Amino acid sequence: MKFADLGLSTELLKSLDDAGYSEPTPIQAQAIPPILMMRDLIGIAQTGTGKTASFVLPMIDILSQGRSRARMPRSLILEPTRELAAQVAENFEKYGKYTKLNMALLIGGVSMGDQIAALERGVDVLIATPGRLMDLFERGNILLTGCDLLVIDEADRMLDMGFIPDIEHICTKLPATRQTMLFSATMPPPIKKLSDKFLNNPKYVEV
Ligand code: AMP
Repeated sequence: MKFADLGLSTELLKSLDDAGYSEPTPIQAQAIPPILMMRDLIGIAQTGTGKTASFVLPMIDILSQGRSRARMPRSLILEPTRELAAQVAENFEKYGKYTKLNMALLIGGVSMGDQIAALERGVDVLIATPGRLMDLFERGNILLTGCDLLVIDEADRMLDMGFIPDIEHICTKLPATRQTMLFSATMPPPIKKLSDKFLNNPKYVEV
């Protein structure tokens, strides 16, 4: 299996070549084609399997078409911790270096001013922890009605950290006709319930 067989753009193939990756990992080989075909997806994979690139790569290609508007992010990635959110942002920078996507990182512990300014400029990719996202949403700095691509990453850790009610609340603010991807290392009953409620006929991938 080669990256070129997965339907990714030449810009991405170039950045993967720069990164020195010769072939997709199993989660990438299985998840990238259905995501590019706009399917919902449940990915059961641990950290270290290459799961971040399995959603970042197809998202870059999907988002490279179209343009961002002020305060209306086009996609949202939810992460349980600031560190994981920052890592995902680094992945977007690494793989997206030949494309022009606007990104904003909404995490706690840093001032809201820069985050609000980024939202005003228009954002293709919003990477957030649930708490800070909810704060900015309640303050009216974000409209989620244009956000039709959602990733819930590390869902079982979100559960351990008590974030499921926030995630449910956020999901109801996004358009119903969106594409949703959920990644988790395990599938405890509350996560199964969450995916039954908010994903539509998802492709199930387990590595
Ligand atoms: P993740 O599971 O997303 O945390 O990724 C684990 C590590 O694997 C990261 O350091 C990635 O840069 C690296 N990685 C991701 N995809 C590949 C690949 N196809 N070939 C080699 N390394 C990769």
